[in-house]
Amino acid sequence: MKSLIPFTLVFLLCFACNNENKTTDALIESEVETKIEKPEFAIVIHGGAGTILKKNMTPEREAAYKAKLEEAIRVGYNILKQGGSSLDAVEKTINVMEDSPLFNAGKGAVFTNAETNELDASIMDGKTLNAGASAGTTTVRNPINLARTIMDKSEHVMLSGKGAETFAKEQGLELVDPNYFYTENRFKSLQRAKDREKVELDHDDQTAFYDPTIKDSKFGTVGCVALDKNGNLAAGTSTGGMTNKRYGRIGDAPIIGSGTYANNATCAVSSTGWGEFFIRAQVAHDISALMEYKGLSLQEAARIVIQEKVPNLGGNGGIIAVDKDGNMVMEFNTAGMYRATMNDKGELVIGIYEKK
Ligand code: ASP
Repeated sequence: MKSLIPFTLVFLLCFACNNENKTTDALIESEVETKIEKPEFAIVIHGGAGTILKKNMTPEREAAYKAKLEEAIRVGYNILKQGGSSLDAVEKTINVMEDSPLFNAGKGAVFTNAETNELDASIMDGKTLNAGASAGTTTVRNPINLARTIMDKSEHVMLSGKGAETFAKEQGLELVDPNYFYTENRFKSLQRAKDREKVELDHDDQTAFYDPTIKDSKFGTVGCVALDKNGNLAAGTSTGGMTNKRYGRIGDAPIIGSGTYANNATCAVSSTGWGEFFIRAQVAHDISALMEYKGLSLQEAARIVIQEKVPNLGGNGGIIAVDKDGNMVMEFNTAGMYRATMNDKGELVIGIYEKK
């Protein structure tokens, strides 16, 4: 019997070793599996949500929107593919949309009641939770660049009006004559809105501010969210706000936590919609908080905020988001949202109406 003891011990030891190896192998396998499933990087953009109906769109306009959305997202995709940062991808992608008159941001910004264009923007770095925002500027060509510069080069988070413009000048950002932002369509929209003396959501006809005569009421704010190869998330939003706004009105776009939020622990979000409600609902941060504190998936968190919280308050709009695992979400409670996604395989999805 005694002679069996060393043999049994050796056998048990071998069995244990073997088993341990198996466990290790299994772990590595599952890790590899997770890594394969998780995209290396991802990018999502929006060009505004609202009552965007196919019956109001010409094939040419639809093609123009799709082409610009594709051009914009490919800029960010290429940055991410080459190992660039999500912040750079967000900023440069938004620049393309800011430079196009198709969207209510930069060049295509809507008019205020005083016939000026006052632009808002913000950007957030999910790694450091650092953020930058500018509000009510009239001479900065690309407000998202100003937001980024405020984040990187100042000790503040938000600058507004003349002060923000002085800072932009000091930092060598491109300034333009305010007339740069003049577009005939937007000016006509203001005249129509003024006739009715109401503040209307730039691209919505489902609200109390509905004006069926405003054909271009579907144009909107732009935004971008991205996950880079280093696992860093970033979000940015840029807008002209709402047609006929007055008294220095500022919407959700430059408000960190409402229009923009990014946190490497959860997700990156950019909003578009009726700003007053998005501020009150703290839309972007709320989605992140539902993930962080309640353990919800990005999709479920976005659904609760956009399909329940915002409409329950009386507001509408949508968001784009990407989480730390590269899951991409585009959630809206309006008839449409200009939107696009691209994953690390270069697969592009573009949508305008509710069903693509
Ligand atoms: N959220 C923007 C604002 O209220 C409007 C938009 O999304 O177009 O200023």
